[in-house]
Amino acid sequence: MKKIITTSFEETQQLGFDFAKMLKGGAVLALYGDLGSGKTTFMQGLARGLGITRNIISPTFLIMRSYEITKKGLKHLYHLDLYRVEEASKAMDLGINELMGEPKNIVAIEWPDKIENLLPEKRINIYFAYLGDDKRQIQIS
Ligand code: ADP
Ligand code: MG
Repeated sequence: MKKIITTSFEETQQLGFDFAKMLKGGAVLALYGDLGSGKTTFMQGLARGLGITRNIISPTFLIMRSYEITKKGLKHLYHLDLYRVEEASKAMDLGINELMGEPKNIVAIEWPDKIENLLPEKRINIYFAYLGDDKRQIQIS
């Protein structure tokens, strides 16, 4: 378990950027934490780290956004935000089961709690916590 405290949004983006370098195809990331704890900010850096130049915006209203990856033989980053999803079955209707673990995909899920028992056992959990105005704690396990 790696525990980091960041003191600016740029630092959290940098963390995501560096983390992207260690990611392998098929990775599933479960991003836990309250609203404003930095999950999407981390994803902005992570996407940059994967060579994605399009702006990462929160998928809250669309639930899922996909981005093309041109690095490391990867194809797509799927960024999900299940905050507005009321039933796990709705999330499954998006076909995420088929996307998760596919070797050319990276799947990152905000509010994974909503589908906790449908998540693959083999995943990376990242816990975000608000510590103060610009201070966040990020734990990667
Ligand atoms: P979430 O996706 O978890 O709801 P966001 O990443 O969308 O959270 O929002 C985090 C907000 O907090 C952003 O407005 C960001 O600029 C701000 N912020 C301030 N300090 C930090 C930090 N150290 N890490 C991440 N975000 C920070
Ligand atoms: Mg978010």
